[in-house]
Amino acid sequence: MAEEIVVPGDFLSVEEEFGAGKNTFEDSEGNIFASVVGTKDFNNINREVSIKSNNTINQIELGSIVIGKIVRIKDPVVTIEISRIEKDGKEQICSFGIVQLMIANVSMDHIRFLRDEFRVGDIIKAKVIKINKFGIDVTTKYPEFGVIKAFCFQCRNALELYGKTLKCSKCGSVEQRKLSSEFR
Ligand SMILES: [Zn+2]
Repeated sequence: MAEEIVVPGDFLSVEEEFGAGKNTFEDSEGNIFASVVGTKDFNNINREVSIKSNNTINQIELGSIVIGKIVRIKDPVVTIEISRIEKDGKEQICSFGIVQLMIANVSMDHIRFLRDEFRVGDIIKAKVIKINKFGIDVTTKYPEFGVIKAFCFQCRNALELYGKTLKCSKCGSVEQRKLSSEFR
């Protein structure tokens, strides 16, 4: 039988049957879920379930700094496809993951509409703050998090930063975003 791959948030067991081992987490009701991509490993001796992960690829975990592309914006959620992770100050490839940015986690300031801060196609840097059965949540509340690369809404040219304003050198369009201090 082929080993079944699990992804973060997949249900594994209840605490009465198997305890939460490596690469898993437990919710308040004693349900145990995977926190990384890998294969299930039920240990019948210590009654623990853990996830064997493929160590050659970085996993998205709680606290990970992730980099990805915005694929959908629908208040109150931005959906991001993660392709990179920042580890030891370097960008590295990571396991594919879809994460969500809730409007309440965008900024310290009050945000009215997500479309005032983000556009589909923007590259964003964020931090993982929650992994549960509903998915992976990230935040952009701190200055280093937010949009690191943006594209003109009119012509898709890469926008350039002038002070605090984003401008398209091709068509002259002026736009704004929830910018990261590391905007490129
Ligand atoms: Zn343009």
